[in-house]
Amino acid sequence: MTASALSADGQSADSADGAGGSKHAAEETPLLRVTNLQKHFPIKSRVPFRNAGAVKAVDGISLDVPAGKTVGLVGESGCGKSTAGRAMLRLLEPTGGSIEIEGRNITKAGSSELRRLRRQFQMVFQDPIGSLNPRHPVGAIIGAPFRIQGVDPQGGVKKAVQDVMARVGLNPEHYNRYPHEFSGGQRQRIGIARAIALRPKLIVCDEPVSALDVSIQAQVVNLLEDLQDEYGIAYVFIAHDLSVVRHISDRVVVMYLGKIMEVADRDDLYEAPMHPYTQALMSAVPLPDPRQESRRERILLSGDLPSPVNPPSGCVFHTRCPKYREQLSDDQRQQCRDVAPRLELNAANHLVSCHFAEARTDLITAAEAGAAAAVSAPVAPAAPTSLDKS
Ligand code: SF4
Repeated sequence: MTASALSADGQSADSADGAGGSKHAAEETPLLRVTNLQKHFPIKSRVPFRNAGAVKAVDGISLDVPAGKTVGLVGESGCGKSTAGRAMLRLLEPTGGSIEIEGRNITKAGSSELRRLRRQFQMVFQDPIGSLNPRHPVGAIIGAPFRIQGVDPQGGVKKAVQDVMARVGLNPEHYNRYPHEFSGGQRQRIGIARAIALRPKLIVCDEPVSALDVSIQAQVVNLLEDLQDEYGIAYVFIAHDLSVVRHISDRVVVMYLGKIMEVADRDDLYEAPMHPYTQALMSAVPLPDPRQESRRERILLSGDLPSPVNPPSGCVFHTRCPKYREQLSDDQRQQCRDVAPRLELNAANHLVSCHFAEARTDLITAAEAGAAAAVSAPVAPAAPTSLDKS
């Protein structure tokens, strides 16, 4: 498993952590490498020439996505995961950092080069109806990438589009129908068909199932997995549902307030989360067994997500951290308030951004029970697993 985030706070793993750095140096070039990516939205001041600050939606994240693998990106609403996904594909211009596709830096690529590169990377959006032009029939929507890229497939565009429709489970005879004539799940399939039409190497899926019914979610996630097996597509899978992320991801990145808190292979993260924020998220996963559920210890986060305009000093999580509140000495708290922790290797291939990180193995039961549910019902995305409720 090579998918990995490197570091937070603008440092590559090479500088943040020797072990992580040397490991990456020895690895083959990832499909996507994002280094110290930043996206700040300036706030307009009413007073001319006065700087009113910026919303630091993404504040120095680094991660690798290997070919054919899935990297899950999780966190509460407002943590910057969707902005990060868009910035990775240059749908939003990054404020800083670099983006490499197969070792090629595309951070400053011009519009014609970007258009060419977009054949290789695509996006699936959360809102299937909002992302489809209601005035275009699905044939034109799914065929748009062929037109834009000037691709003339064998047998013509119509046949290629109908083949893609059949592949994603749509009736090819519905080629001339309009988006409003399809159900929510079918509309998401249209979005997926458009994304895979030119067989991209990477798709950023931004909450692709959160607007769908639970049974439809499982179908769409399984479709994405089948397409990955068949075409070797890599995914950045953005979601707030931990069960869905566990089911589909090879590696998981946990974000909080525009920064990365923890990165690990899927099972390592779910079975022994090390960052207090991840531990709180895991404790919010409901258990399918009523007896286990009644014994589940919930770790509560105090307060709301702080403003990304004025993030807390030191560790950005310290204002809500249960460990800071309940377990640390005054000196340790001072360190949390004053010194931003680096994203460092705490265990094999497991990076954590916390001065006092320790694995919570007592949450293993909860994680395993969640996994059992995920296995029994492919995705088992029970509504209350939403991080928004943690
Ligand atoms: Fe909590 Fe301190 Fe670790 Fe931050 S550095 S997560 S405040 S214990």
